[in-house]
Amino acid sequence: MTRVLLLGGTTEAGRMARALADAGVDAVYSYAGRTEAPVAQPLPVRVGGFGGVAGLVAYLRAEGISHVIDATHPFAAQMSRNAVEGCAAAGVALIALEREPWQAGEGDRWTHVPDLAGAVAALGEAPRWVFLAIGRQNLSAFAGAPQHHYLLRLVDPPTDPLPLPRAEAVIARGPFDVAGDRALLKDHRIEVIVAKNAGGAGAEAKLVAARELGLPVVLIDRPLVPERRVARTLGEVMAWLDG
Ligand code: NAP
Repeated sequence: MTRVLLLGGTTEAGRMARALADAGVDAVYSYAGRTEAPVAQPLPVRVGGFGGVAGLVAYLRAEGISHVIDATHPFAAQMSRNAVEGCAAAGVALIALEREPWQAGEGDRWTHVPDLAGAVAALGEAPRWVFLAIGRQNLSAFAGAPQHHYLLRLVDPPTDPLPLPRAEAVIARGPFDVAGDRALLKDHRIEVIVAKNAGGAGAEAKLVAARELGLPVVLIDRPLVPERRVARTLGEVMAWLDG
């Protein structure tokens, strides 16, 4: 019997959930529980961490899961590592629905850095107006560069004081469009953008807007995840489930 655990938290995971529901596949959608009001899904939803690899293995067994689809964000590397290890231990099949990383094109002014520390260093010493488009969780990495003005875009209003002295947050949930992102960059007189190389369409608008405005982008490379089966499309995942 096929029973799927879909690890979510992304636009693509929402599309995957719709495809599974339309095909009548028995599946559960899993959220980490990071946002206050997660997007509704056409599948039964569970929320919260599993409790590491051991907790995930216990969950897979208790729920009779046969297949795991890892559709988490490319920077949710801990969950993806746990999925590789937990599925191997439980004898459960695993596939990752993974977006292609973005590639620089004509007119892009991108600097690739390996991690957050590299992004901080790439901003330099002189104060700049920075669109820090990395979400909420890793902001403290930039606390060592308090000379810059940071524009943040967050899903929920911050409940704790921001760890950056000169920061302003706009509250918005993707997907975003180019006209809106161009206006955001101009209105806030942004000079440089820091982003994760997430890939996909929902967060690409800021890169297109940066190209149009001739702005530089500091792009953080993806963290490493152990080798696993990877699909690029919903169709590939559905074929894998059928196989
Ligand atoms: P992470 O660092 O890889 O995960 C940390 C822990 O959070 C995991 O070990 C797991 O806890 C729990 N977790 C993560 N994703 C989960 C899921 N889908 N269901 C149940 N538990 C989950 O992940 P993260 O970067 O904090 O991302 C958290 C969520 O936000 C993910 O769903 C991801 O798709 C989404 N997201 C992340 C980013 C990003 O930039 N990182 C951007 C957009 C959306 P246990 O060890 O207790 O199981």
